[in-house]
Amino acid sequence: MKDLLVMKFGGTSMGSAERIRRAAELALKEKAHRPVLVVVSAMAGITDLLIDTLKHAEVGDREGVEKRLRQLEERHVTTCEELLPREHRAEALEEIRATVTDVRRIAHGMLMLGERPPRSVDEAIAVGEHLSSVLMAAYLRSLGTEAVAVNCKEIIVTDAAFGRASPLMGPTEQRARAKLLPLLERGALPIATGFNGATVDGQPTTLGRGGSDYTASILAYCLDAAEVWIWTDVDGIMTADPRIVPDAAVLKEVTYQEAAELAYNGAKVLHPRTLAPLIEKQIPAWSKNSFAPEKPGTRIAASIRAPKGARAVTSMTKVALVSIEPASGAVSGPRLMSRAMDRLADLNIELLALSSSSYQQSFCFLIRREDLPAAFKALEEEFALELAHGYIKPIQIDEQVGLLAVVGEGMRGTPGIAGSVFTAISREGINVIAIAQGSSELTIAIVVHQDGLEKAVRAVHRECRMAELANLS
Ligand code: ASP
Ligand code: MG
Repeated sequence: MKDLLVMKFGGTSMGSAERIRRAAELALKEKAHRPVLVVVSAMAGITDLLIDTLKHAEVGDREGVEKRLRQLEERHVTTCEELLPREHRAEALEEIRATVTDVRRIAHGMLMLGERPPRSVDEAIAVGEHLSSVLMAAYLRSLGTEAVAVNCKEIIVTDAAFGRASPLMGPTEQRARAKLLPLLERGALPIATGFNGATVDGQPTTLGRGGSDYTASILAYCLDAAEVWIWTDVDGIMTADPRIVPDAAVLKEVTYQEAAELAYNGAKVLHPRTLAPLIEKQIPAWSKNSFAPEKPGTRIAASIRAPKGARAVTSMTKVALVSIEPASGAVSGPRLMSRAMDRLADLNIELLALSSSSYQQSFCFLIRREDLPAAFKALEEEFALELAHGYIKPIQIDEQVGLLAVVGEGMRGTPGIAGSVFTAISREGINVIAIAQGSSELTIAIVVHQDGLEKAVRAVHRECRMAELANLS
């Protein structure tokens, strides 16, 4: 749809009646001159609360469940009362109560079973988005705008990978067009739930934590939107995490690839999977701060006018480095590597970095710490024979590490960047444990001991003059 703007509001931008009011104003301002589709996250903290409720159900803590269900209800009822004039509340209040009843039904199932089946988890945790879409739509209607809460379980068709489902773009596109275009064409404002979808046969699914960004880009793709604005509580994509680097600066523009690398390497502004649908249709996106909407934010697009060099540095903790080393030259390193990678792929485990050496044919890779137990078990099974006969050394695990990634499209073909990055890190007396740089030269990933991680991030940021370059462009 020509001119369509997709606006996504994150949890803090929907965090209270006051914030929802501000979000609604931002949407209305744009809707005055073009069609707008809104995608919302759950109110800040609600998805965590829902997950916590289910954990208490699993271990049989009935009181803990009830206490949390009351919190869920109170937070939304209070917001509803603060947001809506009395005569507009009835429908939303009824929906809140019905939704809490739904979650109670699911939690009671878990209490009886003593377990948390992933498909029931997805059904329950998607209600946070449902409730915030109901509240925002009701508020907009109270202002006289035709706003309609839309639940994406009726639009986004996914596979059955509960907890991290992937969209099936064909059927999703069909449904998105059938359900949303008529609303948009008659001038209504759809308020769609982020984060959730359903399988072909209607089982509710979720797209992974933080997945509402991804919802926005999926819908933008399906509707051929002109732009996507992602509203958060920071000024845009930054040269580094400002909690680690106080003088980190906002980047005015980044390429799709840079944004994707930053997201995959631990920057929290965007869900990593958001970029792919946008790249395919070359839809530009903006990362903006709903607490300071007058600031320009960061533009994310195919081509930008940024200077050459390293542009941003991210870091990631809660990771584990796994090393595998043959004990003799008789074992084929590449074969070991391919078997290890196969097992990780079967488990859907994401590889954060991979590095190998040629002589001993040893290799190591970095994964999230939460994936370690499953990965370790699978590798021990896979290599049981080699381990038992001593063909490979015992699998080494190092959990005391962190990942630092230096990202910049302009690093390609620019000599000296790796040099200055390593000089900066070594000057701080920090030992580099592993390194990976893809041939695209977009990212240099460096594994260091976790104690040195933040220091290394600051050193690299300073050495590459990232704040200065960002302010120049
Ligand atoms: N509410 C979900 C979460 O907290 C999805 C999102 O916020 O994007 O993960
Ligand atoms: Mg979020």
